[in-house]
Amino acid sequence: MVEKLYYHDSYKSSFSAEIVDINFANGYYEVLLDETYFYPESGGQPADGGFIDGIKVENVILRDDKVIHVLKTAPKNKFVNCEIDWEKRFDNMQQHSGQHLLSAVFYKLFNAETESFSIGRDSSHITLTNSNLSEDNIKEVEIETNRLIYSNLPIITYFIGNEELKRLPLRKKPKVDENIRIVEIKDFDYSPCGGTHVKSLGEIGIVKIKKFERTKKGLRIEFVCGFRAFNDYLKKNNYINSLITSLSAKEEEILEKVDKILDENKELKKELIKLRDNILQYEAEKLIAESINLKNFKLVAKIFNDKDMKELRTLSQIITKEKGIICILCSTTNCGNIVISRSDDVDVNINSFFKTILDVIEGNGGGNQKTCQGSGKIDNLDLALDKAISLISNY
Ligand SMILES: [Zn+2]
Repeated sequence: MVEKLYYHDSYKSSFSAEIVDINFANGYYEVLLDETYFYPESGGQPADGGFIDGIKVENVILRDDKVIHVLKTAPKNKFVNCEIDWEKRFDNMQQHSGQHLLSAVFYKLFNAETESFSIGRDSSHITLTNSNLSEDNIKEVEIETNRLIYSNLPIITYFIGNEELKRLPLRKKPKVDENIRIVEIKDFDYSPCGGTHVKSLGEIGIVKIKKFERTKKGLRIEFVCGFRAFNDYLKKNNYINSLITSLSAKEEEILEKVDKILDENKELKKELIKLRDNILQYEAEKLIAESINLKNFKLVAKIFNDKDMKELRTLSQIITKEKGIICILCSTTNCGNIVISRSDDVDVNINSFFKTILDVIEGNGGGNQKTCQGSGKIDNLDLALDKAISLISNY
């Protein structure tokens, strides 16, 4: 059996080993060493990165209790020098140890058991079975977790027999029946685990809960530990400083200032809508004044280059509120748009000839007897307008 040395020393990041087997599968070389400190992905902790004889380790996987090192190129030597990506390893140790502590405090304070755990690229999460905890409860756990970090209790690991196991106040049941490895936060928490951890709580640095959400599976807590939390703080401090500059506000005034700006923005939008409506009203009156008098109704026809379909529709609604009008409004915004509407008292079925007009611009659309709209090619829009005028005039 391959010796999994990471169980005994999480801090060793360079070592020598002997290659005992190499297999080529799916375009990769799967290298088996006689002993290894490389941690394979398992138990919510990602695999280690690093190099074997200068060749990048793409992945480390556990298969049939064997640690497989996945490489793109096969090492030439039988005895190889291995380097573990220490930054990544230590980051995983901080996140994983932080999780043990956080889960232990949730359990001790609120009897909330951790159902699952995973270290993500940016943040980690645990899902708790008890999803009834309040925001204040979660805050209390966060404070207690960080208070305990300063107590700097040792974290120790050891293998244990089944008889001894019965005497330990385990927080969760082991997933295996033999070779059970215990991770103990000294006299505080006992948990079966095969991962890599720091040797005392102080090295976790800080545990920050970023957010929580209630899901079908339970209460999902997203958190960051150690350098991740520090980098997150740096990033957020930069955001705050940028906001202080752009808003010309003190840090404690930012929220108030943003609220004020949002309120002002809402008012301005209302004002803008009112002004647009006024302009459309004015334009409608002007178009009605310029309309052509036909036998049974007046005809309004115009092509705009600055109005979208929504504006065309609103304008034609305003115009056809007047009695005795048929209105053809077109625009060249994005594509060729056309809206044809009539007043309630005009006896013309627009739907009966609208398709003929749409064909001129190779467009799509439709509507009803009173109003139709469609869009197509801009090029033939003036021809479509002429066609519509001619059809309506001869209706
Ligand atoms: Zn662990």
